[in-house]
Amino acid sequence: MIIYKKVIDISLSLENCRKLNAQIGFVPTMGALHNGHISLLEMSKKQNQLTVCSIFVNPTQFNDKADFEKYPTTIEADIAALESVGCDVLFLPSVEEIYPDKNSLAHYNLGSLETVLEGKYRPGHFQGVCQVVDRLLSIIQPSAIYLGQKDYQQCMVLQKLIQLKNYNTQLIVCPTLRENSGLAMSSRNIRLSDSGKVAAIAIYNSLLFIKENIARLPLVDLKNQVETSLLQQGFSAVDYVEICDAASLETITDYTPTTSTVVLVAAFIEGVRLIDNMVIS
Ligand code: AMP
Repeated sequence: MIIYKKVIDISLSLENCRKLNAQIGFVPTMGALHNGHISLLEMSKKQNQLTVCSIFVNPTQFNDKADFEKYPTTIEADIAALESVGCDVLFLPSVEEIYPDKNSLAHYNLGSLETVLEGKYRPGHFQGVCQVVDRLLSIIQPSAIYLGQKDYQQCMVLQKLIQLKNYNTQLIVCPTLRENSGLAMSSRNIRLSDSGKVAAIAIYNSLLFIKENIARLPLVDLKNQVETSLLQQGFSAVDYVEICDAASLETITDYTPTTSTVVLVAAFIEGVRLIDNMVIS
């Protein structure tokens, strides 16, 4: 695996690959890699001649400074994991390489995606996500970008970015990888104690509970029941438990089995904010 830290170096190298008509698959990450990230890399490896991973903890997407400062970094283990999955290129830029002019950050019209769910509870977060991914897409110019369904709303935001900026890049959404317990893999899980990890399974169980009962209980009652139960099972706060139209992310008030529906949860445990979701088709 070749590691590039400078935009100029990775650009030249990928330009040569493109001249040879190589399909480039791209997996953007913030590091502290786990098997969820690895599954995206494996998918990219299957579908492309060249796979590029980026590791960059993007300061502009953190609305909470403490969360940014506490974000885990495990760069040596990450490099070893990328080598073993056969990643071809790792892009490891500095903040200056990504944002040469910090005073001219772009703004994107994301419509209602910016005011609901993650957009509502993390103001400015999706602008930051778009700023970094826009920059990375312009440098790497991949045929396909691989994202996890774990960040459901982020996938929708980045599909919108690709459309807004007319990128010739296909977005591939990969399934959420879970621990055997059902807990969605996340870099933030490193910050949980062993008992916190056990308690955190309540999120997955809540999603299953809603899925099983969605057709027979009023949605408001289901959401209230789940919120109360999360608080009873060790969560300190619940940002949202929402049941939405899977295509628009608008909250639904009645369940229609013929419409694809997504259940989304964000809640805090041991000071760590966890998110998860489940699509009910
Ligand atoms: P992050 O490093 O958290 O920014 O995540 C980088 C990419 O990995 C994003 O597209 C995430 O949606 C994806 N990802 C994170 N956790 C998982 C998971 N458990 N399963 C599949 N993909 C994931």
